[in-house]
Amino acid sequence: MDAGGVSKKDLSTAILERKKAPNRLLADDGEGSVPLDNSTVALSPTSIEQLGIYKGDLVLLRGKRRRETVCYAVADPSCPEGRVRLGRGVRGNLRVKLGDVVSVNRRLDVPNGARVQVTPFEDSMEGISGDLFDAYLKPYFRDYLRPLCKGDTFLVRGNMRAVEFKVVETEPGDCVIVAPDTAVFCDGAAPVKREDEERLDGPGYDDVGGVRKQLAQIRELVELPLRHPKLFRTLGVKPPKGILLYGPPGTGKTLLARAIAAESGAHFVVVNGPEIMSKVAGESEENLRKVFADAEANAPAIVFMDEIDAIAPNRDKTHGEVERRVVSQLLTLMDGLQPRAQVVVIGATNRPNSLDPALRRFGRFDRELDIGVPDEVGRLEILRIHSKDMPLDDDVDLERIGKDTHGFVGADLAALCSEAALQLIRDKMDVIDVEEETIGVDVLNSLRICNAHLKHAMEV
Ligand code: ADP
Repeated sequence: MDAGGVSKKDLSTAILERKKAPNRLLADDGEGSVPLDNSTVALSPTSIEQLGIYKGDLVLLRGKRRRETVCYAVADPSCPEGRVRLGRGVRGNLRVKLGDVVSVNRRLDVPNGARVQVTPFEDSMEGISGDLFDAYLKPYFRDYLRPLCKGDTFLVRGNMRAVEFKVVETEPGDCVIVAPDTAVFCDGAAPVKREDEERLDGPGYDDVGGVRKQLAQIRELVELPLRHPKLFRTLGVKPPKGILLYGPPGTGKTLLARAIAAESGAHFVVVNGPEIMSKVAGESEENLRKVFADAEANAPAIVFMDEIDAIAPNRDKTHGEVERRVVSQLLTLMDGLQPRAQVVVIGATNRPNSLDPALRRFGRFDRELDIGVPDEVGRLEILRIHSKDMPLDDDVDLERIGKDTHGFVGADLAALCSEAALQLIRDKMDVIDVEEETIGVDVLNSLRICNAHLKHAMEV
């Protein structure tokens, strides 16, 4: 980003910060230098001091729609001033997206719980049966004294499957700390998710690995303009209309765009380059117009154009009449997007040079990000993401696997992890009852991915 853009963005957040009280902070993601979970949030050391928070203090967080929850607050020097880092679960409980305002106050009077009732979400435990208490809740609450509020949801990972629970009842009061003598009940009908509760295992920033730098850049370009359009309008900053992601297939371009849409709460429209092209006269252009109309009607929105080179090849080099018309249509649509429309177009291609150069000019796809093949550190990050629900045996050395998978892209590493899980299942066919529709948690609990499974997966 150019220096002018940076100073304008700083200015925009500075205005926000100055106007609000110190306890009004902007939601940021959970990927700082301090690891966060469902029960912890992080603030900058300055905020910690301003709010008078001491180590081990609980804070009451207030989000949207009068949603509140209680978490431990820790200091994180990597947390930008005026921000609060929240994991995805906490953001879901507060109904906030990144960039939304959260109020944070020290809260001292949270009692130990006498009784807590939780219930798993039906859709998150499809195909498994048995005693979730021992397999999921016991270890979860054994970690440390977790605060819980009525209405919260939380995701517990492990046993090959993450299960999401809802807090149905807490006593005494609506927020309690689950202590060793708190009676935790896990029963009741598993509710189906309400509309404003998203699944916590949908795509998010923490599902994309090895692209830290690119993610930071793209967030800066997309998130604030989509969340605070008025601010940008007032300041006269023009957010970018288009961003081009280029890199080989399977490096996570689609995943990245989806995560941005999900995390910023934007409507997501996908256009598949080759699919939208039609030989019927005028149909491809019509398809494109519909996509843009849909995006504008549902703004804030992200239009994701996969394989955009198929839609917009260089007009000098293509002989196809359809392509020429489609390129012009796309240019017209992008030029016609008003800054206030809150629509960002993200194009993906593995051949940026075959795109029509007119598209890469200012005011169209004027930002380009290289999403390359991941390096060793990136591969390890991606392996960790794809194995996060897999119980790994002690003999598994993910770092070694990261080293040995030179040239693998994200999609290859995802496939490697599923192949290892498949290999484990093949191994354990004797303990899994294939006739049953569900697998018992005790069986799941006993499964471990070993180095041999991963080695095997690398060879296929
Ligand atoms: P592209 O759009 O670049 O072709 P995709 O986003 O469709 O790649 O990737 C396909 C799948 O591979 C993703 O759904 C994800 O499971 C996995 N994957 C690819 N890149 C990454 C990454 N950087 N981090 C985590 N998973 C990845």
